[in-house]
Amino acid sequence: VYGATTCNQRHMSTYTPPPARYGGRHTVTLIPGDGIGPELANHVRELFRFCCVPVDFEVVNVDSTMASEDDINNAIMAIRRNGVALKGNIETNHNLPPSYKSRNNLLRTTLDLYANVMHCQSLPGVRTRHRNIDIMIIRENTEGEYSSLEHENVPGVVECLKIITRTKSLRIADYAFRMAREKGRRQVTAVHKANIMSLGDGLFLECCKEVASGYPEINFDSMIVDNTTMQLVSRPQQFDVMVMPNLYGNVVSNVCAGLVGGPGLVPGANYGEDYAVFETGTRNTGKSIANRNTANPTAMLLASCLLLDHLKLHAYASMIRRAILTTVTETRLHTADLGGQGSTSEVVQSIMNAVQSTGPRTLSI
Ligand code: ATP
Repeated sequence: VYGATTCNQRHMSTYTPPPARYGGRHTVTLIPGDGIGPELANHVRELFRFCCVPVDFEVVNVDSTMASEDDINNAIMAIRRNGVALKGNIETNHNLPPSYKSRNNLLRTTLDLYANVMHCQSLPGVRTRHRNIDIMIIRENTEGEYSSLEHENVPGVVECLKIITRTKSLRIADYAFRMAREKGRRQVTAVHKANIMSLGDGLFLECCKEVASGYPEINFDSMIVDNTTMQLVSRPQQFDVMVMPNLYGNVVSNVCAGLVGGPGLVPGANYGEDYAVFETGTRNTGKSIANRNTANPTAMLLASCLLLDHLKLHAYASMIRRAILTTVTETRLHTADLGGQGSTSEVVQSIMNAVQSTGPRTLSI
């Protein structure tokens, strides 16, 4: 489809790749997921092939309609083996019985991928209401409101659990402050509802304060979640790093993605002590636009760059990232979600063209 490809590796005279796993190559689990996931996964593979990225994908399909958890357990086992994965979102149909657990959530909790990280940044060339947004969202990924268990003793009454623990709150707060320090960020805002959920969110907030005292150079503040969403849509530039429990993280990350151009643009990462899984930041399936060649591939392709950075294949990551940004901001070949008329494959082709013209320069840095 894309014609003969030139292997850019031959230009990499000054680039020393890190020690890779098998025969100089990394094996990465690829879970295509539902909706637009499979087509975007194919574009990542195409682009990696084009750029001669030393990654082999082990594809694991998860059938979201299957009652049995065998598929997701296979996927989890593959990630344990390979250490890292790229995934599309697996659909969770809320009409299924409550015994059906979200496959995405099972994967994140089983592998203890406790930190979800999403970087929302304004891009020149993408028209949005607000400019100069640069927010890092750190979301606790393994407890909070996502820990609900059915309590069926009284008909018509449901108890919904929100679990907040000191250990996990300290862990995510520490992650947020460490990341803020590493990236030279100046402010961390904890998002909570401790005025109403004084025990659970109160504990989360206390843990954030405790960790903040070890980072005197970083300004710490807190904001109640309802005010946060209002502030985000009116003056988003006031936020730098934000840390929060699971469900607020879900809402805030979707608001922020919307602020910088939508779900097709922003990648997301899930990190634990042992494993890392990369996906689109807003974690949606895009079922309504599947198989139409109209989805914006940017978020998934940028997720693949985060994966490459994680594997310490930084030169490949920055080569592809630069080509993506060239297409979004300079070529301005946009898909329909950004008001353009480009198809998914035209955008990917444009990225490949940009790789061809800028790749070798980036790789020799
Ligand atoms: P579902 O019916 O499963 O909710 P959906 O496509 O209707 O699927 P979401 O997956 O929640 O809804 O996506 C929310 C919105 O964002 C939809 O309008 C979808 O088309 C859009 N969207 C999501 N990802 C992309 C993308 N990569 N490019 C363009 N639009 C996207």
